[in-house]
Amino acid sequence: MYIHEFQAKALLAQYAIPVPEGCLAADADEAIAAARTLDTDCWVVKAQIHAGGRGQAGGVRLVDSIEKVGKATERLLEERLITTQTGPEGMRVERVLVEGACEIEKELYLGVLVDRANAQVTFLASPEGGMTIEAAVGTSTGQVAQIPIDIRHNLERIDVTPVVSALGLSGALGSQAESIARGLAKAFVELDATLIEINPLVVSGQRLVAIDAKMTLDDNALARHEDLQSLREEDVTDPDRLERERHGYNYIRLDGDIATVVTGAGLALATIDLIELHGGRPANFLDLPPAATRVQIAAATRQALRNPKARVLLINAVGGGITRCDVIAEGIATAAREMEVQVPVIVRFDGTSKEMGVMLLENSRLGATLVDDFSAAVRLAVQTAAGGTV
Ligand code: GDP
Ligand code: MN
Repeated sequence: MYIHEFQAKALLAQYAIPVPEGCLAADADEAIAAARTLDTDCWVVKAQIHAGGRGQAGGVRLVDSIEKVGKATERLLEERLITTQTGPEGMRVERVLVEGACEIEKELYLGVLVDRANAQVTFLASPEGGMTIEAAVGTSTGQVAQIPIDIRHNLERIDVTPVVSALGLSGALGSQAESIARGLAKAFVELDATLIEINPLVVSGQRLVAIDAKMTLDDNALARHEDLQSLREEDVTDPDRLERERHGYNYIRLDGDIATVVTGAGLALATIDLIELHGGRPANFLDLPPAATRVQIAAATRQALRNPKARVLLINAVGGGITRCDVIAEGIATAAREMEVQVPVIVRFDGTSKEMGVMLLENSRLGATLVDDFSAAVRLAVQTAAGGTV
């Protein structure tokens, strides 16, 4: 779960990481009122979207009068913001963060993430932060130090000296950096984050300030963070995600043209592998939850069919234990009543209530082709997507 900058900053502040004072605003009047509460003569107005790269795209505006705070806000709320991280369609800006602007002497980079290759929580640190560094992170330019930390130890006492040196800091700023790095490690573990990035962390006067913050939290850990669940926002720009979360299935859009609806993650992966093996390209990964209801199955099927690239729909369902093929058939038939199915549908059923499922599908007006064998069903899907007929 990606959260907004203002939310991430509020969380970091709880770990004693210094962030600028600021207020959220949904229109120009609110922004002006917010600006008035801040003791400054220079403000920064920042678009709150679930993506970075805003600075280079005009999504972060420095202004030197209250009137300009209002104007900048109007401007940002008016149009979709397109950054290198939003995709070409951009994102609508619903709110802005108004802060007192910081005087920047130096921009540093500090982040923490799970390094999957080494199975370790790892700090990323560089004395060269700012807008151009994000592209360099993860490449081998050597500019960004990677410092693994052992989270099994007492986080209050972990050795963060290598992080401080990688930031190029010493003295008073060095000790501030130490406490920021500790706070960051603690926040990362306690919040079940998968990424926290402060870019830039700036030197301003004799202080370090986190003037930007990016944070993603582990969706699978949200159940134990009741207070964080409300940070999830119904993102109107991503209806796929909304549907997926409401109905409890996993869906990942892929590049190919064979849409899939499958019972269980293991079988879903095997289905995708087999599609590739036979020379086809999956349009998605979709795994239905165990004991999915007709409504959930219908929603998942509609989702798979909404992909404009899909040229065929392959349903691979094994009725195992609590999942029954007849319920799956009802779900698919429900989806077909709710939307026009414009692609051929291939179904492979096996397991509990297979016969009932087959009968229900045969009696529906879906015109699905039923194939008994997993491999044969996949081959047929690949052939169909490539232009052969069912
Ligand atoms: P991002 O581009 O989406 O990562 O947005 P950031 O919050 O990192 O802002 C981009 C850039 O705007 C920063 O690297 C700074 O150079 C500049 N910026 C942001 N806030 C301030 C501020 O308070 N004062 C000054 N002088 N510059 C700022
Ligand atoms: Mn940034």
